[in-house]
Amino acid sequence: MRAELGSLLNHQLESLMAEFKENLLDWLRDAHAMEQQAETMLKGQASRIEHYPVLKARIQEHIQETIGQRELLEGCIKRLGGSPSTIKDVMGKMAAFGQAVGGMTASDEIVKGAMAGYVFEHFEIASYTALIAAAKTAGDAETARVCEQILAQEEAMADWLAAHLPNVTEEFMVRDATPGVEAKK
Ligand code: MG
Ligand code: FE
Repeated sequence: MRAELGSLLNHQLESLMAEFKENLLDWLRDAHAMEQQAETMLKGQASRIEHYPVLKARIQEHIQETIGQRELLEGCIKRLGGSPSTIKDVMGKMAAFGQAVGGMTASDEIVKGAMAGYVFEHFEIASYTALIAAAKTAGDAETARVCEQILAQEEAMADWLAAHLPNVTEEFMVRDATPGVEAKK
């Protein structure tokens, strides 16, 4: 009787952990699509900026971080026996393209872009905060460690944008008020 109870509990525990792993894998795929979207968006922004070299340099630095994050996520997904969802990745790229095109029409695109970047970094912060909890719940210490490492980069980027948004805004306004000087990008 005791042996049967043990086997029942074991079986229930196994299916519980399998369900946890399923959630974790799904959210890792979401994060992977998010990083693909981030890469497309950041590359679009960086390629268009002409008169704001400090912002451009920080975005270029974050593009390299973003590529590393995507690779780290791929490692976690493969370790859990999954593969990144190509459908989500394609949708993410299309959404990023739409945002990039939308941003280009604004006469104050440098300010709108910096604001959008700040918002996007916070979406990433929320995503990795949830992922860390999911990884811990599923007993995946390695994924939790990787997501904590990525989270620190997203927080640093969000902090940098918060600190520099006032400068970018002021520079834009001064350029905009100067005849013959382009301000928007
Ligand atoms: Mg990221
Ligand atoms: Fe980021």
